[in-house]
Amino acid sequence: MPMIFRQFFESVSSTYTYLLAGAQGGEALIIDPVKECLDQYLQAFAELDLKLVHALDTHVHADHVTALGDLRDRTGCTTIMGSPAQVECVSRKVGDGEKIVVGGITLRAMATPGHTAESFSFALESGSDQRAVFTGDVLLIRSTGRTDFQQGDAHRSWDSIVNRLFRLPDETLVYPAHDYRGWTVSSIREERRYNPRLAGKTEEEYVAIMEHLDLPNPKLMDVAVTANLACGQPSGSH
Ligand code: FE
Repeated sequence: MPMIFRQFFESVSSTYTYLLAGAQGGEALIIDPVKECLDQYLQAFAELDLKLVHALDTHVHADHVTALGDLRDRTGCTTIMGSPAQVECVSRKVGDGEKIVVGGITLRAMATPGHTAESFSFALESGSDQRAVFTGDVLLIRSTGRTDFQQGDAHRSWDSIVNRLFRLPDETLVYPAHDYRGWTVSSIREERRYNPRLAGKTEEEYVAIMEHLDLPNPKLMDVAVTANLACGQPSGSH
């Protein structure tokens, strides 16, 4: 991992946020920041003497409000999402294969739709010997992100996971945007072997599992999606 790697946990929505930087005193990026945790991130940047350069969201979250807009206002950072995102306030939209470079760290954007249409993953390509991928909600630890709203599609989820993420090297660490049971990190090898929705399953079996989850909508869904289409800020404020 990069010299500075921090995993933050927001307990109301069970969201993980990741801070990466090449060195203390250097440039940093943050993945999936939560609005309520803004002060904690600003504290970390100050205490580690980091300059935030990029803030990324893996997708339009339905369960929490993003801190992208607030971080842009407070730090002047670039805000980034995958190219299909219908989020006009982000300053950069990356396509599949595009590189995001900061402080000696390179992330490769991977289009991994399925949980939502605009879901992207970000693979750590350099900045350390250890490979890692930030999967948002498409691939969770021993689970996968629901596919029943926001143009979710179980077939596309299968394709993104099995034909793209599972082709990353076995030892690649998997850092998702959420965990509800206390897992903090996994690996491609572990998920390919032990993810109960995927291991030993056919695509049809996976789709059947996803179609019968019967999950309630997230409590914050209406508020969060609307806010996140405006980078987590009241519409009209920019
Ligand atoms: Fe999500």
